[in-house]
Amino acid sequence: MRACLVVLVSVLSHAGVVVVASPPIPFAVASSSPVRPLAPRSLESTRERLELARLDANDHATVGGAAIASAGAANAQPDVLERRPRDGRRQLAAAPAVRRLRFHLDSSMLGEGATSDPSACTHVGMRYERGFPTDDGRACGPGVLTDCISYCTTDDLFGEAERARLIALVQAVLDDFDYFAIPVGDDAPLVLTKSAGNHAWWYVLMGLGAVEERCARDCALLSGYHADASLCETGVPNSDVIVAIRAPHVIAEVAASASACHHAANGRPNVVVISWHQSLANLLEGSLADLVERYEGLVRHELLHGIGFLLSEFRKAGLVERITMTDLDGDVDADVWSFKSGTRAHAAAQQHFGCDDPNMALPLMRHPEMGRDQHWSSRAMRDDVMAYGVAKRVSAITLGAIADLGYYTVDFNRSVCLHWGRAQGCAFVATLCGAMVHDHSVSVVGPEACLGLSTWTRYADDHLDDKCAFGADPCGAAAYNAATSMCNAMCAVDEAFGGDACVLQNASVLAFHADHDADDDDEDDGLYLALFWTQILVGMLSAWGLVFAIFVRADVGEYRAV
Ligand SMILES: [Zn+2]
Repeated sequence: MRACLVVLVSVLSHAGVVVVASPPIPFAVASSSPVRPLAPRSLESTRERLELARLDANDHATVGGAAIASAGAANAQPDVLERRPRDGRRQLAAAPAVRRLRFHLDSSMLGEGATSDPSACTHVGMRYERGFPTDDGRACGPGVLTDCISYCTTDDLFGEAERARLIALVQAVLDDFDYFAIPVGDDAPLVLTKSAGNHAWWYVLMGLGAVEERCARDCALLSGYHADASLCETGVPNSDVIVAIRAPHVIAEVAASASACHHAANGRPNVVVISWHQSLANLLEGSLADLVERYEGLVRHELLHGIGFLLSEFRKAGLVERITMTDLDGDVDADVWSFKSGTRAHAAAQQHFGCDDPNMALPLMRHPEMGRDQHWSSRAMRDDVMAYGVAKRVSAITLGAIADLGYYTVDFNRSVCLHWGRAQGCAFVATLCGAMVHDHSVSVVGPEACLGLSTWTRYADDHLDDKCAFGADPCGAAAYNAATSMCNAMCAVDEAFGGDACVLQNASVLAFHADHDADDDDEDDGLYLALFWTQILVGMLSAWGLVFAIFVRADVGEYRAV
């Protein structure tokens, strides 16, 4: 049994999906902080590791990998991909109306009840496992984040006050997480499935238990979420997604992690598990508003992973392809996942970078190895919530990537424009910030309006300093032309673009992009566009009882000061 485990770990390692940490980099956000490195955010989930190993085996039939990974494939639902609508537009056109995606927060894993987390620390000295350690289990520590053992310390323990703060934080972010809608259904409660799980054979192989039916079994065995049996009986009313929170123990190098462990019939994730890996004592500082300000980027980041921002999802939907990228200094990476031309993410990125070349790359993260391929590159999209660092902006590029999965209708008017790389042209993204230019293309009121984002100076990164033509903080004196009062586009304050014009422009581009999609499929453009706007307006107005944000939110500027 353990030999099999070693083989699996080896396979996953060769597949490049076992994370190896950089030196410990605690996540922290505080306005008075000194310059810090860009911080890793999340740890790749066990389920994602399994999914990627399976996809790799399917793609390449690698020796050794195929045996293990195909075992997973044999137990997976073979028709999930076929059932999934590959194109959000078609899904939209077939649905009479859409409504906001509704979340139900399950905090039972933070408590002491019958469904509390059996792997959570309850006393100092308690032994716990992360991932699947071998019999001679290596100790968790710097650089060893998973498949290891450790012992609880006082940092891992928390009380009711910390628990309440974490719940309030996640709920507050969920209340504002209104980017996505799905077709209006029959309003039946969300009921989970009792089964042996999608990986039953693998569970046997790993010694996790014989084949047996259990409510949301994958969630228990892969994500540490032990769903109450009632969720497979009466379910949860008025909900589309269960968001379960855990805080099993502190991992110094990681802020949080997220996984999806249960899916709707069309493949859409409907159980998201967020594991908090920082000391909960940090949550007691300041007001709830302060807490949300500090951590909303992180919680959004994990939620976006949970609802689909994962390499496995992008691969299964056929959105990404392997490419080779060469940095300006000659470094070559021949194993980069990049969004394909024709996707909404790609169209939004072309708009942002100001690159008309349809062959423009839109790469997922290459560096550091921890979290590789699961995020945007901080060298290309530093301000985006799905890059490493402290950014909290949900860009049209990120929303486009989620829209491309085909599960959701996306409100692009809720996107926030990025600064980093704006209007830098094709060479910027081709070299990931190695080729920057002083475009001096935007008129501003003075040099103080040409300083870029304050996060660039508060949070630095040696890699950016090494690789980017103008370093990690490219908005120095040369970014502003005093004679003409012109500023580099990426350094200009948002107001220089006419307030929220950038967001409206993105929404417009993506609407036209959908229009062109329809052209390709010989569909009725006018009908599609009419359906698009009618469904969003009518569906959301009726479902939410709210005035839908056809105009950009007035408070979009809240992100300017980050
Ligand atoms: Zn992440």
